[in-house]
Amino acid sequence: MAQQQHLTLNRTGDKMPFVGFGCWKVENEAAEETVYNAIKAGVRLIDGAGDYGNEVEVGRGINKAINEGIVKREDLFVTTKLWNTYHHKDNVRPAFEKQLKDMGLDYVDLYLIHFPVPLKHVALETAYPPGWYQPNGATEVEFERSPMQDCWREMEKIAESGKAKNIGISNFNVQLILDLLTYANIKPAVLQVELHPYLQQTRLVEWVQKQGIQVTAYSSFGPASFIQLTDDGKTAEPLLGHKVITDIAAKHGKTAAQVLLRWSIERGVAVIPKSMNVERTRTNIDLFSFSLDKDDLEAIAKLELGLRFNDPFSYGFGLPLFC
Ligand code: NAD
Repeated sequence: MAQQQHLTLNRTGDKMPFVGFGCWKVENEAAEETVYNAIKAGVRLIDGAGDYGNEVEVGRGINKAINEGIVKREDLFVTTKLWNTYHHKDNVRPAFEKQLKDMGLDYVDLYLIHFPVPLKHVALETAYPPGWYQPNGATEVEFERSPMQDCWREMEKIAESGKAKNIGISNFNVQLILDLLTYANIKPAVLQVELHPYLQQTRLVEWVQKQGIQVTAYSSFGPASFIQLTDDGKTAEPLLGHKVITDIAAKHGKTAAQVLLRWSIERGVAVIPKSMNVERTRTNIDLFSFSLDKDDLEAIAKLELGLRFNDPFSYGFGLPLFC
């Protein structure tokens, strides 16, 4: 099979690497070195977010690699995300500008709306990043009357300014994407969602790809990055140690992690694994020297459980976002 290593984005024709590095839960103290080492190891896509609280350090790692001549800025593809408290049309741009400043960058390659959840605004100087709750000890999430259409218009302005080369969405479902497409002047370039063999979302992936929107998978290793499993009584064994996956890995002489990542690539979906260990990162991006065969794909298809790990409902917010 063709060893395609990039996905082409609509509107700009920009090439997004099929495999990148995710910055969620990369501790602040280690983030600069971790990102720098990841780039040194060959990573060319960095996936961050204001909510991860480490953009200053992530930006330092990126700039260190650029300043040392390891890469040029244009060799990298930097993604970041707009947090939920900045959906109001007056708040999108200031939040974005802060993120650029924090990272020490002139532009990002992709700016995503992190969740389709307009939370009540928290001023940048009051708390940053504010998370899901108001910074006053609140124990319930508070929403804001910010229509997605207004938020998307601001995202479009940022794209038109060139400071985000591409714009996109994350954690959106088909209903919301259908609506967005009725008013978007700029179509989202990318949808980023949770995807792994326990949550395959095949209909969503295929439909979105048909709209000319590329898909990125997060949490490709399923339970690996979640301490608690869902609160609805479902549990599942770690995918990285699942016999179906380890058997396929042994057959190809690859790691279980490589099999889980390659599974997305076989579907034309980009991946952004996170690891603090540069040796793992090196193997996590080595996905183009093998492919999965029909038997492998059929065996993995049978692992579907409809099991979602990153669900605001499970976090106790009482928000059944994906229903
Ligand atoms: P992941 O699926 O990449 O798993 C990370 C875990 O797997 C870590 O515990 C790591 O130590 C382990 N791991 C990594 N490589 C390994 C290897 N080769 N062998 C064994 N273990 C390995 O988890 P994730 O962080 O949930 O997702 C990846 C990225 O996706 C995030 O860092 C973030 O950038 C993005 N993300 C986005 C959203 C969103 O709402 N848009 C949500 C979650 C994650």
